[in-house]
Amino acid sequence: MALVNPNFAEEMERFGEDTALECFNCGTCAAICPLIYEHFPRKMIRYLQLGAKDRIMENANELWRCLHCGLCTQTCPREADPGEVILGLKRYVVANWRRS
Ligand code: SF4
Ligand code: SF4
Repeated sequence: MALVNPNFAEEMERFGEDTALECFNCGTCAAICPLIYEHFPRKMIRYLQLGAKDRIMENANELWRCLHCGLCTQTCPREADPGEVILGLKRYVVANWRRS
């Protein structure tokens, strides 16, 4: 079972990310994303909102699929800036990666 942390969104400010809580999970970004991959990037934004760090780390390789094309940010009906959220999550993963 994933652990949740409601303070994680605030923690992400250290990694240059402060817009994820604007997301209301409409799914527009996942629909427009050229990757068409398992609700990406909406899914990762939801993990961030919940503070599900273990899910983020388990699915970290998905972050590097992003083409940084900007389509998700252009079409987001909120100010969630999903493209920037992905960049912030990449910074978080790099800073917290542990070899097993
Ligand atoms: S980031 Fe924007 S487009 Fe994507 S699910 Fe959230 S509100 Fe919708
Ligand atoms: S910036 Fe990344 S997540 Fe957003 S639409 Fe492009 S490939 Fe998908």
